Amino acid sequence: MNEAPPAVTALVAALFGAIVGSFLNVCIYRLPIGTSIVWPASACPHCRREIEWYENIPVVSWLALGGRCRTCHQPIGMQYPIVEAITAVMFGAAWWYYGPGVLFAQRVIFGCALIVLFAIDLEHQLLPNVITLPGIVVGFILSFFTEPGWLNSLLGIVVGGGSLLLMFYLYLVVRKREGLGMGDPKMLAMMGAFLGWEMTIVALMFASFTGSLVGLTMMLTRRGSMESMLPFGCFLAVGAAFAATIGPHAVQWYLHLF
Ligand SMILES: [Zn+2]
Repeated sequence: MNEAPPAVTALVAALFGAIVGSFLNVCIYRLPIGTSIVWPASACPHCRREIEWYENIPVVSWLALGGRCRTCHQPIGMQYPIVEAITAVMFGAAWWYYGPGVLFAQRVIFGCALIVLFAIDLEHQLLPNVITLPGIVVGFILSFFTEPGWLNSLLGIVVGGGSLLLMFYLYLVVRKREGLGMGDPKMLAMMGAFLGWEMTIVALMFASFTGSLVGLTMMLTRRGSMESMLPFGCFLAVGAAFAATIGPHAVQWYLHLF
């Protein structure tokens, strides 16, 4: 029997990813308001009418309905199709790149956690413990079977969580107020569990650099003060995605500059 060509299996993985993305949207919407993520069925946030199955097809339904509820015609956020599309692309690309195996599972579980954390931090300035704390455990358990290895994962948890915890207290001592939420060290510890300590430092540097860049741009264009800056968890999520994908290559390239 012939094996299906990689492009076909990657496409199947992407379609599965779109369905997972649809579930991530439910998590993003419901975790901050503390309702169950499995019950009841999805409803329009405006008129509370239950969503039919054909209105719940990832990306397609949103486009077909023109981004509006079918009955009350109130707009349905762009977040929904964007999250579904990103999750689909992530599953397809991860399958293409890693193939079936523990590393594939490790990367997409990590990626899903990052997507949910990014979206909730952006909207609510919150990094829920129900994602970060189990994330640390799952990342550490998986490290026994794949990258980055259990010792590197353990060091990642300590270095990741510890470095930001240190910054948190330094900021508290110097500025007499909290500069970062306590969710950030937990998120960084989770990143450490999945990435290992070296790539966690790469992710943190990337997040700090892009965070300062965006913050500075916003101040210069008078779009906001330092206080109204984007939540740091968003930059951490992007930094983690960077470190998990092109991080090792970027480090190689950087070291060869000198
Ligand atoms: Zn509605």
